[in-house]
Amino acid sequence: MHLIIRIIEGLVRTIDINIRKVDHMKAVDEGRIESILSKLTLEEKVAMIHGEGLFQSGGVKRLGIPPLVMSDGPMGVRKEFELKVWKAAGTTDDYVTYLPSNSAVAATWNRQKAYDMGRVLGAEARGRGKDVILAPGINIKRSPLCGRNFEYMSEDPLLVSELAVPLIRGIQENDVAACVKHFVANNQETDRLQVDTYIDEQALREIYFPGFKAALYKGESLTIMGAYNKLYGEHCSQSRYLLTKILRDEWGYDGAVISDWGGVHDTTEAAESGLDIEMGSAFDNTYMAEPLLKAVREGKISEECIDRKIRNILRTMLRLKMLGEEVKDRKPGAYNLPEHREAALSIARESIILLKNEDARLPIKREKLKSIAVIGYNAQAQHAGGGGSAEIKALYEISPLLGIKVKLGGSVQVNYAKGYYVPPKKARHNQDDPNASEKELEIKQQEEDRKKKEKLFMEAVKLAGRSDEVIFIGGLNHEYDTEGRDRPDMKLPYGQDELINAILDVNPNTVIVMVAGSAVDMEAWADRAKAIVWNYYNGIEGGNALADVLFGDVNPSGKLPESFPKALEDCPAHKIGEFGKTNKVTYKEGIFVGYRYYNTEGTDLRYCFGHGLSYTQFSYSNMKADVREDKDDATVIISLNIKNTGSMDGTEAVQLYVHSLRPSTKRPEHELKGFEKVYLKAGEERRLSITLDKEAFGYYDTSCKCFRVEPGEYEIQAASSSRDIRLTGTINLAGSYRYI
Ligand code: BGC
Repeated sequence: MHLIIRIIEGLVRTIDINIRKVDHMKAVDEGRIESILSKLTLEEKVAMIHGEGLFQSGGVKRLGIPPLVMSDGPMGVRKEFELKVWKAAGTTDDYVTYLPSNSAVAATWNRQKAYDMGRVLGAEARGRGKDVILAPGINIKRSPLCGRNFEYMSEDPLLVSELAVPLIRGIQENDVAACVKHFVANNQETDRLQVDTYIDEQALREIYFPGFKAALYKGESLTIMGAYNKLYGEHCSQSRYLLTKILRDEWGYDGAVISDWGGVHDTTEAAESGLDIEMGSAFDNTYMAEPLLKAVREGKISEECIDRKIRNILRTMLRLKMLGEEVKDRKPGAYNLPEHREAALSIARESIILLKNEDARLPIKREKLKSIAVIGYNAQAQHAGGGGSAEIKALYEISPLLGIKVKLGGSVQVNYAKGYYVPPKKARHNQDDPNASEKELEIKQQEEDRKKKEKLFMEAVKLAGRSDEVIFIGGLNHEYDTEGRDRPDMKLPYGQDELINAILDVNPNTVIVMVAGSAVDMEAWADRAKAIVWNYYNGIEGGNALADVLFGDVNPSGKLPESFPKALEDCPAHKIGEFGKTNKVTYKEGIFVGYRYYNTEGTDLRYCFGHGLSYTQFSYSNMKADVREDKDDATVIISLNIKNTGSMDGTEAVQLYVHSLRPSTKRPEHELKGFEKVYLKAGEERRLSITLDKEAFGYYDTSCKCFRVEPGEYEIQAASSSRDIRLTGTINLAGSYRYI
């Protein structure tokens, strides 16, 4: 249905570029900072700007300046390490609430859930005595292969921004600093410490910057972490372009900038850039320690460079109530509270995505259920302890199998088969035969693995054949979704395609659940399966959340925060751009990332951005737009009716896309510019209103070095997914605007 929306005449005017700085972060007493600064010796200042431990900067006891104590990370507060060595402290007091991954949070499309996640993360970090929590990770999911995709949110900058902001605010309510990371373009793990990234300025401004900008401007993130990789030849953690020109000069950021661990490579560059604290593991020998002290003493680097950093650090400490009298007012935090687990469960429930549900295969009806088969290693796998710096010592982790058993109780027989073989992590050696050569051991091992694999395969297919109800739970694990390396391809590992097909041969009704942090190739079986459920790494209560969805106690409402291409070759980062190369990667696809490319080119996809089904149905109707323009601003208020037309209560993420009708430059087919999650009882109808500001219509114009909104017609699309557009209407913007 195409509605012609009321056009309201506005003023036709081009205004001066409107540069707003991050000037509203909590103001502190700058005089107090100057007074402390004047008492510090050069040595003390230098101690404050590098790590004195793996996870803390140097403090100055004499003046009551504590170190900034930090911890990873995005899925909960990481275990304790010894002060200076990468060795777990091995204590039992660092078990925490394992929270859903950022990709799961993004799949909720729910700002409140992101905020709840932040509140818990911040409270736990503070409860563990931390000042800075190294989260959230918000890099754009540019390719399905990036090893850290599970830690990141989305391929879309608006979704990232809208969720990162409440998450950060939630964290910081606890007097703990968020550390949004990794600025910028840490979109691959291959050669991550050295790879040089080339992105055109328009893509940088439209795709890769907005999440960070929102995190600082709207989220007021007190700290930010530089990335490992290079951008335009400079390491991001010491980049003058990124940290001085953009962050400090253009955005006016006055919080603390922290390097990634070992991300600094040069004393002068680091000292003279907008970086404040160098972290890593070299301590006194690190670039911003002894070598910097020496350079300042020799007059090669000015002391003012260091003073600037100290001011940012002290300002951050004041904002966190870490100095002087305010310490007693600082919130104490708490970890492992029952309400933290409840929040984790609620986020997990909303993040699960129903990708396919032919013949209303799901939810599984419990009434007549006598027995059920659960197949797949991921049904019993626990994931909290892996993935790199995002690893967590979870207080507990409900696996899907446990969640299903807890739900079904003792009257339903739950039969489990592993189905596929996951070789143990560490390289194995043969104790029986210490003299065997590496090659012989490998051959022997391969033979043993093959036998184990065959056995598990046969057992699983047999079990599926004799069961009426079968749930397969597979996907990836942190051998694949991990920091430090990218996946080699999109294929499911461990022979899962073959196994799923064999199970579907004997039981075509099998429900397939994928647990993973990034798109996988489902082409071998997706057309055959009746029901497919997507489950990102989902935290401490993940298995309960999944069981709730499978058995209909929760109506799924997650939507894909990323596109699922049919083949890797279709992905613009691979088809047009470069990915996974060492030395240098060029993002030749520019702004055409994810659905911006697929929906412009009409690429056949497995599942599109924004897709996610429900056990009920929603109808959209009666869209109206109220366009308000004045001399330097435009606001478009879209209102529409949304009705739950099915028989089950449910929640819908309503999406608004903007399609520019006559752009003067090549634009994506459409772009997400607003969304709202609405809960509706069966039969309930509500009027929803979403406000789009002028930024919803802008694009970055390199000729004016600013965002530009062109006057003219724009189509507004109200959609259930990026390819399920329910209503369209056209608005006219009379004015033209420029902003940065
Ligand atoms: C990661 C960061 C992490 C840091 C500290 C680095 O290797 O890239 O995300 O916060 O280590 O563990």
